[in-house]
Amino acid sequence: MSPSSRSIVVPGYEGRAARVPAGAALTITDLEGCQIGDLFVLCAADPAERLSPAVTRLVNFTPFPRVGERFYSNRRRALLLLEEDASPGPHDMTFAPCDREIYAELGAGNDHPNCRDNFFKAIAALGIAVDAHPDPVNVFQNTPIGADGHYTIGVTQTRPGDWVRFRAECDLVVVLTACSVDIPFEGVQPNGGRSTPLRLDIG
Ligand SMILES: [Zn+2]
Repeated sequence: MSPSSRSIVVPGYEGRAARVPAGAALTITDLEGCQIGDLFVLCAADPAERLSPAVTRLVNFTPFPRVGERFYSNRRRALLLLEEDASPGPHDMTFAPCDREIYAELGAGNDHPNCRDNFFKAIAALGIAVDAHPDPVNVFQNTPIGADGHYTIGVTQTRPGDWVRFRAECDLVVVLTACSVDIPFEGVQPNGGRSTPLRLDIG
């Protein structure tokens, strides 16, 4: 274990931030299964440079990341490699993080936990000021695009202990949120009806 190795449990409905040095592995494990994680990635040297799903889709020519592909910044620099996947997948990089507005629209009130607010809380806890959230990679999110061009909302397919591993290509700050969705979307409970913990291992 290097000095920077550590293991962080992200409780359901919450988020956690961590620094990840260049060359370190970043492993996300779904502890109880059926849980989406939103992974936000910023460059440690300049948080204005952050993971861009749009640039990544342009480079990789797919909206769904696969093993061996890299994730690129808004300045088109490789930040992360998707190194190994011990989950059924898929993973999404088209959805914005859930926000308080979507829960209000679905009748869950104005203060439901959400990945956007959890990103800002987590990054502030690390003492980093950002003016806007980056769009995330949504690990384990099962939302393929149907033949009619619309998303199909699927139940997350992970079982307890499934994991996915990334490799940092430069010094990064990451935030992982355990997605807060606990109400049906189009009749489907993507997280199985409640938000449960994820583990983030670095090193
Ligand atoms: Zn969410």
